[in-house]
This record gives sequence, C-alpha cells and structure tokens, in this order.
Amino acid sequence: MERTLIGELGKHVGETVSISGWVDVRRDQGKMVFFDFRDRSGKVQGVVLPASPAMETAKEIRNEYVVRVEGTVNKRPEKNAQVDRQNGDIELEIKGIEVLNPSEAMPFDISGDTSGIDENVRAEYRYLDLRSERMQKNMKIRSEFIRRCREHLFKSDFTEIETPLLTESTPEGSRDFVVPSRLQPGKFYALPQSPQQYKQLLMTAGFERYFQIARAVRDEDLRADRGFEHTQIDIEMSFVTMEDVMAAVEDMVTTVVEAMGYAIKQKPFPRISYKEAMEKYGADKFDLRTDEDKEKGVLAYAWVVNFPFFEKTDEGGWTFTHNPFSMPIPEHLEWLMEGKNIPDILTTQYDLVCNGFESGGGSIRAHKPEILEAVYKVMGFTGEELEERVGHMLKAFRYGTPPHGGIALGVERTIMNLTGETYLREVQAFPMTRGGKTAVMNAPKPLSPKQLQELHLSINEPDASED
Ligand code: ASP
Repeated sequence: MERTLIGELGKHVGETVSISGWVDVRRDQGKMVFFDFRDRSGKVQGVVLPASPAMETAKEIRNEYVVRVEGTVNKRPEKNAQVDRQNGDIELEIKGIEVLNPSEAMPFDISGDTSGIDENVRAEYRYLDLRSERMQKNMKIRSEFIRRCREHLFKSDFTEIETPLLTESTPEGSRDFVVPSRLQPGKFYALPQSPQQYKQLLMTAGFERYFQIARAVRDEDLRADRGFEHTQIDIEMSFVTMEDVMAAVEDMVTTVVEAMGYAIKQKPFPRISYKEAMEKYGADKFDLRTDEDKEKGVLAYAWVVNFPFFEKTDEGGWTFTHNPFSMPIPEHLEWLMEGKNIPDILTTQYDLVCNGFESGGGSIRAHKPEILEAVYKVMGFTGEELEERVGHMLKAFRYGTPPHGGIALGVERTIMNLTGETYLREVQAFPMTRGGKTAVMNAPKPLSPKQLQELHLSINEPDASED
C-alpha cells in the first residue's frame, strides 16, 4: 500500500492507510499498546487493540524503531480529542506493524529540549540530537530563510555564482585554514574567509548583481556565536551607492522575515553613526528592543555607518578597521589619496545590527587601482609587497571595473535571532564542539605516513615546535 504522510491523515478518516516513520513514544498498557508515530510531517497516536494481529510485534517495539504501520484512521470520541495537538482528533487503529529497522536505546532523551545535554555527547550523536523537535524546527527555519532570500534575490535580477573553495589567503582578516598542495610541494591553498575578491572580480566580469550562499572559514577563537565555519548571504552589486546596497538589503530582509511571520521594530531601519553608537551604547552592536519586544520576538534592525577606515596597530602603524577593499566616503577620498588626516578618514562600511548582534556588513569598494593602492600605502605596503598581496585586483581594476559595493549577511546569527537561540551550535546541522572537534566524525586527526609523504609534509612533535 502506498505511504500516506502523517500530516495528511486527517483527510483519510475511515480509510485504511500505511504510514512509515519512527516510534516517538510507546506506552504499553498491558491489554492495549499506544504509540506516537513521527515522520517529517508530524505525529499521530496509534493504538493496538487486544485482538490485533500486530500485538506481538507491538510488545517488542521500542522508541525510535523505524516502522511501517497499517491501520484504520478513526475519529476519536469527542471527550478524548486533543484539539491543540496535530491529529489530536484522530487515532490510528493498528492492524499491522513491520519493523524496518530497530534502534538501540537513545544515549540521551530526545523527546524534549536537548540544549542542556553535554555538548560532546550531543556532537557524537548529532544525527539523534537533530531528531528532536526543537532542532528540526531550527533547521527548517534556516532552510526557509535561505529559500526565501534566494527567491527574493532571483526576483531582483541577481545571478547566483559559486566561487572556489581552494583559494589564496585573503588580506581581510583572521587566520586562514590552509590546504597543502600535493602537486606543488611546499605550497598551500587557503580556504576562503569570504568570497570578497572573487565577488569583486565578478563585477569586473560584468555580472552586475551577484549573490551566493557562501561558506566562509576562519581560524578564530571559538565563541558562543562564532565557529570555524559559517554561511553568509554574500552579495555584490555594480553601479551602486551605499544607499542602493542598504535599500536592497533592507528590502530583502524585510520581505523575507515578515513573510516568515516576524515583526520588525522600526522601518526603514534606523541609521546611526559609529561615533554616536559608541557614545550612546558603548559598542557598535546594540539591542533596541524593550522587554515587551523581546517577549514578542520582535526584530530590531539598525544600520551603523561612518566607521573610521583605519586604526592604529600595536606597532604604531595603520591597519583597516573592517575591509581593505572599501572606498572612503566621497568627502574623504582626497585625504586618502594624499595620505593625510588618516585617523579622520571614514569608510563607506555599513553594518547591519539586529537584537544586539552584528548581523551583516559590507561597503562600497575601491574600484580604481590607485585608490586601493592608496589604502595599502597608508598601511605601509609598497611596491613588491603590494603587488604580492593585491596585484591581481589592481590588474583587474585596470580593465574597466565598474563602481561596485556589496555586503555579507551572517546566516547563523540571523537564525539565532529568529529562533531566540544563544548558541551557534543550535542553528548549524553539524557544528564543531568548543574544542574544535567535528560533530560525529573525528577530525582533526593525524594523517597516515603515506599521506604525509604525498603532501611533502613532516610533523614536528608539539614540544619541539613550541616557542
Ligand atoms: N567580505 C565581508 C565579510 O565577509 C563582507 C563584505 O564586505 O561584503 O565580512
């Protein structure tokens, strides 16, 4: 018999159906055995009556067995109906049960909120943890958010383009994860910390409106809201001003989260300068929600603009605050080109803040070689070093690169805001533990001598390499 989804059973009252799924709960009452069955569409109660041919199997079955069940969909007597539950007004009278696969006892209780269970145990059995209702909900919200963003961007004439995973170290920021080259001994690729340079090159290539649901990898200290890997909705647009990018992003975010049933505190999103934010909130991320907003799950977005372009390094030189590829605000371009008033130069960076988190950030870019050169000159780069770092970008900028700008929105942080979760691991399917170990699998781990040899690598014993 063809499978009926549990969520559809309400349409089959009086009929005999076949369902497939997991045993969510089993309650053996001696003469009768009750079950809750679960599939991707929901749950339903089933009952094995005393004379049922399924009684023998019903007695053997335990929670989380995978089963195929045949039975009749009955309306429950009014007094037994549970109006607030899915399928609360029906019950499956079980005629036959086939065990498709048994299950060992769960290593921890997955019937409720698993966030209190030891992180390492949850990671080891992540596939079971993900069966819990809250984790299923979080993953589905994530999927819906990404789907809606994608749809919105397609409607707005964007092209989705993938950029390489094996790439060159980016000057943007934190430490790289590197991959040794087998074919070129002693040389390494870096995993992308962001698709920043490729997306800019796509503007040179004439795509004008690009997006990517991009994975970014950064070897950073792991925190509650930060892992080695994250996903960002990465966007770049040609012939735009700050206003244009901010408006496009605001339109997408508003359309998507409102369609998902969330309320936004203030529209258009309020804008505040970095200076004002620091004076008012002591930080460039802040929470504009009242206690009542928090209870109602309201999203309070705001833009932070007018960040300083440069900050002092510990050695007394200058480095960028956000992104070396940015353009200063138009009024300060001359200062940059002349290398003066460095601490006062403001960048075109815009950060999107939501409920106390930085939920995204981007800028208008330097699209002329001499502007990018000027940025690197302020940071003390000259001649060869400059060529080595960004020579390929300077070259591309000499071939008719249009003015452009973009942004990246952090998917995990957004989903944390939508679900009210405080840890990144609650919104990623297979997150790492705080110690940097992968979920379920056992990385990082040593390579075999043969692999090391192929990659031309030798490992210093940890003691010997400590300085
Ligand atoms: N590359 C930046 C980041 O990944 C975002 C951007 O400026 O578009 O944070």
